[in-house]
Amino acid sequence: MTKQKANFFWFRRDLRLDDNIGLFHALQSDFLVIPLFIFDEDILENLPKNDPRVNFIYDSLQEINKQLLEINSSVLIKKGKSFEIWKSLLTEFDIQEVFFNKDYEPFAIKRDLAIFSLLQENNIKVSSFKDHVIFEEKEIVKSDGLPYTVYTPYKNKWLEKYHLSGQAAEYDTKPLWANFYKNHFQFPELLEIGFDRSAIKVVPHNLSQISNYKEIRDFPALDGTSYLSPHLRFGTVSIRKLVNWANRKNQTFLSELIWREFFIQILFSFPKVVHQNFKSNYDGIQWRNNEADFERWCSGTTGYPMVDAGMRQLNETGYMHNRVRMVVASFLCKHLLINWQWGEAYFAEKLLDFELASNVGNWQWAAGTGCDAAPYFRVFNPDIQQKKFDKDGIYIRKWIPEFDLGYNEPMVDHAFARDRAITTYKAGILK
Ligand code: FAD
Repeated sequence: MTKQKANFFWFRRDLRLDDNIGLFHALQSDFLVIPLFIFDEDILENLPKNDPRVNFIYDSLQEINKQLLEINSSVLIKKGKSFEIWKSLLTEFDIQEVFFNKDYEPFAIKRDLAIFSLLQENNIKVSSFKDHVIFEEKEIVKSDGLPYTVYTPYKNKWLEKYHLSGQAAEYDTKPLWANFYKNHFQFPELLEIGFDRSAIKVVPHNLSQISNYKEIRDFPALDGTSYLSPHLRFGTVSIRKLVNWANRKNQTFLSELIWREFFIQILFSFPKVVHQNFKSNYDGIQWRNNEADFERWCSGTTGYPMVDAGMRQLNETGYMHNRVRMVVASFLCKHLLINWQWGEAYFAEKLLDFELASNVGNWQWAAGTGCDAAPYFRVFNPDIQQKKFDKDGIYIRKWIPEFDLGYNEPMVDHAFARDRAITTYKAGILK
């Protein structure tokens, strides 16, 4: 049987048809395009069977598939190890060219290089595109060509470059949809992929309050943030559209989106940050790493209401407000002297918006070991944070219903823990 000639577009963390650069270029190529998604066993094998992020990916793909079915096309869904899947696709189709958007995480870079070589050995052209960020890799660097490791000058350069280019170009794919391959590939059930439904769901993003963002974003009871993070993580929203919108509406909000790119370029330039302190002179800190303490932190039973409310929000919803993330992270590293990597791993397991660059970057920021990090002697007082940002206790009561019945004693005294943290850090930091 003759194999069908086709081009492929490989969806990964860009789960949308709209304003998708790689897809835009694929649809302009000379052959009809098969949109592909691979449920990658290398990633899935470490996840619980009801992982809500897999649910979200599945639902987003179903949404894409629904739109494609209207034009007699569909997404080809595969499950397996990406490299093996590509090997088998080579036997099924006469593939002419493969298009995808770049992923900047170390695991993805390695995977993509191997697949790139496999396809090239088979005389298939591969084209990859910048889609996940406005500025990638080495586009925003210091005058000496080295990466920025401090946020504010990075942001200033980012803004200068963004304004010079007018705004980020947007890519309308709709007029090109006739170039999708016409076939009804079978769309598997979630169970066939090996997963169940989770009670935890990604909530729709909400931009209605962004005009007041600066004033309300730090108050967890106010719902003053966008809930965009999982959407940016999996690309159900285009960063270019969002940034152009944010630039017109609210500069503080735009600055937060630049933090995201700052950490993505840090991870790209310094991949060691995944497993090591960015500042290696902090390697001598003697963490206590007490497992029972860690368990109390995870379950939200430290006796500090702001910490406990945050951890319970995370455990129940897969989300935690940013102000509270800073408080719980500081508490783990400083009050309990537990290595940031334990907290990072717990967040990675639970957060719907888990993004390696932002998670590692923010954890190292809180621990003081990262670039442009909080100074080691800054130890948030969780009670003062609560008084400042949840003074009426609305947030803590929402997550700790038993709060008014007389709440647990703090597991460690703040003044004692603060002194212990500063002394331990001081002794461990190499000059
Ligand atoms: P908004 O306030 O509406 O912000 C809009 C967008 O800006 C966010 O969706 C996000 O893309 C970006 N952003 C905002 N703050 C930051 C920040 N500090 N660093 C990087 N990007 C930011 N964010 C993640 O997306 N994934 C993570 O794994 C993650 N882990 C974190 C761990 C810790 C310890 C801390 C302190 C923060 C972490 N953050 C992470 C950053 C931030 O808390 C979330 O992006 C934010 O709470 C998501 O809610 P939102 O979309 O409503 O935020």
